[in-house]
Amino acid sequence: MKTVAVTKIGSLRDPDEAARGRIGIVDLPAPELGPEDVRIRVAYSAICGSDPHLAEGFFGTDVPIGLGHELSGVIEALGAQGGVVAGRGRLKVGDRVAGNFLRFCGSCPPCVDGRQQFCERIGDYNRPGMAETVTWHESQVHVLPETVSLRHGCILEPTSVAVRIADKANIRVGDRVVICGGGPIGQLALQVLKRAGATSLTLIEPIAERRDMALRHGAEHVIDPVGGDLKAEADRITGGAGFDAVIDASGSPRAVAGLLDLAARGGTVVYGAMYPETYEMPLNLSDRLYLQELTITGVFVSPYAFPRALQLLPHLELDELTEAVFDLDDAAEAFRVHISGRYAKVLIRCNDLDAHDPPNAAGAS
Ligand SMILES: [Zn+2]
Ligand SMILES: [Zn+2]
Repeated sequence: MKTVAVTKIGSLRDPDEAARGRIGIVDLPAPELGPEDVRIRVAYSAICGSDPHLAEGFFGTDVPIGLGHELSGVIEALGAQGGVVAGRGRLKVGDRVAGNFLRFCGSCPPCVDGRQQFCERIGDYNRPGMAETVTWHESQVHVLPETVSLRHGCILEPTSVAVRIADKANIRVGDRVVICGGGPIGQLALQVLKRAGATSLTLIEPIAERRDMALRHGAEHVIDPVGGDLKAEADRITGGAGFDAVIDASGSPRAVAGLLDLAARGGTVVYGAMYPETYEMPLNLSDRLYLQELTITGVFVSPYAFPRALQLLPHLELDELTEAVFDLDDAAEAFRVHISGRYAKVLIRCNDLDAHDPPNAAGAS
């Protein structure tokens, strides 16, 4: 089974060709179909901002490392017990689906204690989805709404991250919100937080096209951090009060420390990205925690967020996040385009299954 994988560890941005990481296509066997499993023929699998970190060896250095966790597809086979999903009816062959690349087992101590993101078996079903098929446990699978195309459906997983960011931000209706980073997670968080009642909604982003995209999708203000005074801009927008929620979706060490200056007293700062393993951020405990009572938190994965992400999906503007599409055989080129930053998101079409979309589905092609 053709699978997109890291075939050599290294930074995909390394100017030295010999040291640069490499993406290729390898042939991996499809996992056995267990009794509660579902085999999905993959339609679209999107490149994630975290994929280049995998190429750098963040989660291990044994190649090949199969990639792909933001996918949509069509069910082609069900295990012997038939894909019963509690409260969601019965899955059928031919259903258009997306889902969570992680299976939370439901029976280990963290799962039983309401913290499934720390499931002790979290890796068991984490299988590469940038492939011809993927085999998941039925609990990972969500049927796409009729009005959502397969092309838009692969955005379910990043949308779940935006929902989780909103959860961690403790948003109240009317809260002032700023987001740093206009990549896909920043753009989705913006749309989700708009619906959650955010005001003075602001995006900080150096790339003009991404600032413009945010303005089309509900941002009230945008700030170019290059050469500007972020704190002064934030004071102007909030009348000196600061933002009730400050969200980092950039993952950039250059950006993150200054974000604490933008928070209102009693506010919440969510570091919602992946950061370099060795990066340490200075933090003045007297100012930030004693005097200002900030809540500082992060996001690992998105537990309990998929049902709500699925509800939001038909209401989000996803055309611009799904316009760049490459075929599976052109995956290496797709990653080069991803690295270039030309598009906010790049999709890989693993199989042409668009004919399965209802004609009225948003983004159907
Ligand atoms: Zn992702
Ligand atoms: Zn568990």
